[in-house]
This record gives sequence, structure tokens and C-alpha cells, in this order.
Amino acid sequence: MELKFTPEHDRFRTEVREFFATALTDELRAARRFMTSVYCDYETGMKWQRILLDKGWLVPSWPVEYGGTGWTLTQRYIFNCERARANPPPVSPMGLAMLGPALIGCGTQTQRDYYLPRMLRGDDFWCQGYSEPQAGSDLASLATAAVADGDDYVINGTKIWTTHAHYSNRMFCLVRTGQFERPQMGVTFLLLDMKAPGVTTRPIPFYSGDYEQSQVFFDDVRVPRANVVGEEHKGWSVTKYLLEFERGGGSAAPALLEAIAHVRSTWRDDATLLPTERALAARLDALETDVQALEMTELRCVADIERRGSPGPASSMLKIKATELSQQISEVAVETAAYYGLPYQPDAIATHGRAGFVGPEDTLTTTPFYFNNRAASIYGGSNEIQRNIIAKAVLGL
Ligand SMILES: Cc1cc2nc3c(=O)[nH]c(=O)nc-3n(C[C@H](O)[C@H](O)[C@H](O)COP(=O)(O)OP(=O)(O)OC[C@H]3O[C@@H](n4cnc5c(N)ncnc54)[C@H](O)[C@@H]3O)c2cc1C
Repeated sequence: MELKFTPEHDRFRTEVREFFATALTDELRAARRFMTSVYCDYETGMKWQRILLDKGWLVPSWPVEYGGTGWTLTQRYIFNCERARANPPPVSPMGLAMLGPALIGCGTQTQRDYYLPRMLRGDDFWCQGYSEPQAGSDLASLATAAVADGDDYVINGTKIWTTHAHYSNRMFCLVRTGQFERPQMGVTFLLLDMKAPGVTTRPIPFYSGDYEQSQVFFDDVRVPRANVVGEEHKGWSVTKYLLEFERGGGSAAPALLEAIAHVRSTWRDDATLLPTERALAARLDALETDVQALEMTELRCVADIERRGSPGPASSMLKIKATELSQQISEVAVETAAYYGLPYQPDAIATHGRAGFVGPEDTLTTTPFYFNNRAASIYGGSNEIQRNIIAKAVLGL
């Protein structure tokens, strides 16, 4: 098999590369380098989002009528690779990568016309209200109640681990509107205003030093019934559809390959590596092979998304592989940095690194990133749950 790009693809690659080279300011690059999480702060993310929006490249995979680029799969793949190479700050995925596709797939035209442009412009910043203290993996046991009262629902209950709730003016959430034999029935997918009276947000500080998650409380919060996405009691199907986008739209490998290259770039010349460092280098070589295999699988799945319109249960497989590999790479990264990876003081580390050790120029080789990245196999449904989904939906067990 020969994998080759056409001259047209090469021209497209050059165009994308030049865009990243000129659009990424020093400030944006520095903000990205010192992130300890997959998320960046609101201001940085929004700055980058506006630049992408102006260029018309914010949501390449959306249909053109809603702001997509109309690129072919190969162009999208090239864009992802170049983005990974340029390493810009990420834009928040909750609206653009999750709710957006869900509204396009399951919302009404009125909802699409109202919410999608606001999402693109950043007028609305979304958070995801699924998990509750007693409903994480077993999401269907969620208890936050929405009781119909005229044209509104009245909401009481709580959501937990809500990423970026403190930045958000809107939440898409799952609420219980009824009790049926199957707990998945009676769950409704609802859009609510975080500034509505009765909504309280309490921060959850993380061991890595980041503040990204909150617990959100609802105390008699009124939400118009027109804010239901899909049908009342049938929010589970919208949720499953949306989660496929959260778990894997098929482009983790390019960034993982860049991460591997970055860890390698912190090493001395091969000839002077100690035996323990050689062992780490060998581990990284093996991981690179695994990432290349993941990349091929992602490419196949991207073709599938094009055909079916959504990733399907393959997204569970991609999420498992991508998060496992990412965590293994960050293990090698912190072992490489040893105790220089401990403090979150990237400037100090780069200046005072041991002789010959290039030192982390960003947070990838630091323990705060390592700790934050442990959450990747929990959020969006833990890897154990992803395996259960594969057993059921793919293997028919
Ligand atoms: C950083 C971070 C960000 C998050 N952001 C959001 C967010 O924005 N919005 C949101 O709604 N939620 C969010 N979450 C919550 C996340 O979705 C849940 O943490 C996750 O679904 C697991 O639920 P839990 O924490 O209640 O763990 P539990 O469900 O209690 O699971 C505990 C352990 O038991 C295992 N387990 C549970 N059930 C089974 C089973 N049936 N078979 C095999 N193993 C099982 C799990 O894999 C896990 O290892 C976030 C979580 C984290 C860590």
C-alpha cells in the first residue's frame, strides 16, 4: 500500500501551516506551552476561537450551512496533523465539538438557528451537566428532577464534576422528567441558563493545582420546556449520540506523535544516554508504533463518520486507545524529567535543568500535567465503561 498525498494536498498543507505560523501569536503559544490540562483558560481559548472563526476554520466537520469548511476527509486529516504540529491552545469542546453536532443531529431548526451562531461567536459558553454524586458510570440513575409547571420545568438537584461551569453562561444537561421501568426512559436533554435564579456553582480544587471542575446546585430553577432537545423522556438517545463525539471524533494520533517528538527533543544525544534512559527511549519507540497503529484506525473511523454521520461505538475503542497511549507517553515524559518535572515552574525548570538535559520548555514533562492526564480515562465515561459498551454494541455479548 502506498500512502501518498497529491500536489493539491501538499498545497493545502502549506496553506494550513502558514496560517498557524502567522496566526499564533507568542502570547498564545506561551499560554499553550504552560497548560497543565487538556483545557485552557477562558480568555486564551476565546482569543484563539475568534481567530479560527474569522478564518472560517473553527468547525471544519460541521455542515457548510452552519459554518463548516466543506473539506474532504484528507484535508481534515492534514489540518489535524498541522494543528498538532503547531500546538495552538485548544478551543473549548463542550459547545463546538459536542453540543453543536448534537443540535445539528437532534435539535429543531429553531434551536440550530439560535444556538449555533452564538456558539461560534462565543456569545454562549457551554458546560456539560450529566454526572451527579450518585450517577457517574451509572448515568441512568441520575436524579436531578425537572417537574413540568405551565410552559416551564422547575429543576431541583445537583450536577458534579462540571468542567468550566464557572466560565459558562449555559449548560446542556440531563434531567429526570419521569419514572419508567427502564431508568434510561424518563431522562430529558435540556438547555439551561447558568445565570437563572437558583443556580449555584461551587469549585472543586484538583490535586494537579488546576481549578476546572465544579459542583452545580439547582434550587427551583425555571427552564422553558421549549429548551428540550429531542423529545421529553427520550434524552438518552441524544446523550448517546453526543457522547460519541466526546469520546472520539478520530484525531488524537497526530497530537500524540507530536508529544512523543517533544519528549525525545528533551533528551541528550543518543550516545551519552544512561542505560535507564535508553530503556525509556525504547519504551517511547514502542509507544510510537502503537500510536501509528491508532492513527490508521482513526483514519478508517473518520471514513466511517463520513458515511454514517456519527462515529458509532468505535468512538469507545478510540477513546480507550488514545487515553491509554497519552497516559503512557506522559509517564515516560515525567520519568525523563525525574524530579525536574515536580514543581510547576516551567521557567525555573528550563533555566536550572541538570547539565546536558534540555529541560521542559512546556508542561508536558511535568507532574501537574501527568496528574491531570490521569483523568482522561475517567471523564467522558471511564475506560471500563467503554469496554462494556464495546462488549455490548460491537461484540454483541
Ligand atoms: C476531569 C474530569 C472532568 C469531568 N467533566 C465532566 C463534565 O464536564 N460533565 C459531566 O457531566 N461529568 C464530568 N466528569 C465526570 C465523569 O464523567 C465521571 O467521573 C465518570 O463518568 C465516572 O463516574 P464516577 O466518577 O461517579 O465514578 P464511578 O462511576 O463511581 O466509578 C468508579 C470506578 O468503578 C468503575 N466502574 C463503575 N461501574 C462499572 C461497571 N459497570 N463495570 C466496570 N467498572 C465500573 C469505573 O470505571 C471507575 O473505575 C468529569 C470527570 C473528571 C475526572
